[in-house]
Amino acid sequence: MTEIVVRRHVHIKGVVQGVGFRPFIYQLAREHALTGWVLNDSSGVIVEVEGSPADVEAFIEEIPSKAPPLARLESLDLSEVPADGDIAFTIRKSREEEGEFVLVSPDIATCDDCVAELFDPADRRHRYPFINCTNCGPRFTIIEDIPYDRPKTTMKKFPMCPDCLQEYEDPMDRRFHAQPNACPTCGPRLELRIRAHDLDPESMTPTDFKAVETDDPVKKTIGLLAEGKIVAIKGLGGFHLACDARNEAAVAELRRRKHRYGKPLAIMAADVDTARKFCRVSEDEAGILATPQRPIVLLETKK
Ligand SMILES: [Zn+2]
Ligand SMILES: [Zn+2]
Repeated sequence: MTEIVVRRHVHIKGVVQGVGFRPFIYQLAREHALTGWVLNDSSGVIVEVEGSPADVEAFIEEIPSKAPPLARLESLDLSEVPADGDIAFTIRKSREEEGEFVLVSPDIATCDDCVAELFDPADRRHRYPFINCTNCGPRFTIIEDIPYDRPKTTMKKFPMCPDCLQEYEDPMDRRFHAQPNACPTCGPRLELRIRAHDLDPESMTPTDFKAVETDDPVKKTIGLLAEGKIVAIKGLGGFHLACDARNEAAVAELRRRKHRYGKPLAIMAADVDTARKFCRVSEDEAGILATPQRPIVLLETKK
């Protein structure tokens, strides 16, 4: 008895890069015992699967319903191709095509799994500010070109250490193909710089900044904010000016320096419950605040 084997070529467009789509396809293909491959190209994701008609059918049906939460499918085109006799399912190197484009995911707020690691003293990324995984972290701001792969992001300057590389290459790992994957050993680090003039009032170059010797720049910065200082936090996409929003003198100084006297400033709150101390937050607004993109939301202030 010969088994019937079919093969399908699947072309998926939409927000499908930088959202864990290839690992998802890989795992789904393995669940259905299919062989073939998946790759990113400049227009989206291309898959070829081969196996029994029922398994191929089920695989295709489950793509839209089981896709990763951050993916947004715009189209899924199918075509029949001759069986190829692949013996495994693999993730192939990305392919570039002239004149194509793909929708790139926005930056995504740190997910619950990463937050749990961030505050776990036993974790190797304990308090590492650039923690991320396939489900969260920077995307749009670090991409220099498509297809979305590490050599085409600003992370190319940070070669992964053996531990990070192992996660990156393991299809069962949460960081499989997470392009910004990094840790304290191999990734970007924090540095706190203070205006030379503040360290030494005699300084002749008041606009120079000097790195401060500290093993905990975050703690040190919190101390400065509490003192009423203004800090510029260099993030992934630019500078973010911050001060203690409850300190009227600090806020007034920030407004003076920014020449922004009337326009509201955004405030940051640790969570929705904290925001509720200062603002009215409806259930809809709370839902928007908690979306993976964590947008700035205009709320009604309490008197
Ligand atoms: Zn994460
Ligand atoms: Zn590392």
